[in-house]
Amino acid sequence: MGVGKTIMNKAVNWTYHTEPVPQLFDRRLYMARGKVIGGCGAINGMVHVRGQPGDFEQWRDSGCDGWGWSDVLPYFKRSEDHYLGDTSLHGKGGPVAVSRPRGHSVLCDHFIAAGVNFGLERNDDFNGSRQDGIGLYDHTVRRGLRSNSAIGALRPANAAGTFASR
Ligand SMILES: Cc1cc2nc3c(=O)[nH]c(=O)nc-3n(C[C@H](O)[C@H](O)[C@H](O)COP(=O)(O)OP(=O)(O)OC[C@H]3O[C@@H](n4cnc5c(N)ncnc54)[C@H](O)[C@@H]3O)c2cc1C
Repeated sequence: MGVGKTIMNKAVNWTYHTEPVPQLFDRRLYMARGKVIGGCGAINGMVHVRGQPGDFEQWRDSGCDGWGWSDVLPYFKRSEDHYLGDTSLHGKGGPVAVSRPRGHSVLCDHFIAAGVNFGLERNDDFNGSRQDGIGLYDHTVRRGLRSNSAIGALRPANAAGTFASR
């Protein structure tokens, strides 16, 4: 709900626009960016869907050393406090909580059921072994409140004087 209050708010948002995009008849697209501690993670939609392994592999194979899936996965895992715990693909004890949505609209269930009926595969973990399919995405929420790098890492470090001592 808070997105409506932050999406165009210059106090917390850089409210950038892209350069004109030739493929879009030179339109400039609105580009919201967080202007607060924690950056966009402090104003984003809290959807937790990591990049696709194949994209990271492609970057690495194109010469971007250190950006393959096996290189970045340990950092994703370290960042997470995932409700599934410590698995081959999820992390526990990290600064950003990952949880299942609760109290979602019954319309979501009907929408997903319709997708399955249509032939899409049900997927309850878009950060699991496959990303295609239909289901509810996980979100970066702890006990009903936003969880992000600012809350989970920066504020504690600030309180501990980590920044001041540098
Ligand atoms: C409205 C919105 C909704 C989103 N929803 C989702 C979502 O649901 N799920 C998802 O995965 N992603 C979402 N995203 C995208 C995601 O949040 C960002 O891609 C991600 O947080 C970017 O992280 P970053 O560290 O690369 O950059 P940022 O988080 O943008 O961090 C950059 C930091 O640098 C600071 N900075 C920039 N310029 C200057 C300057 N000149 N001087 C000083 N400081 C500066 C910024 O204030 C900011 O703190 C959303 C983004 C927005 C804006």
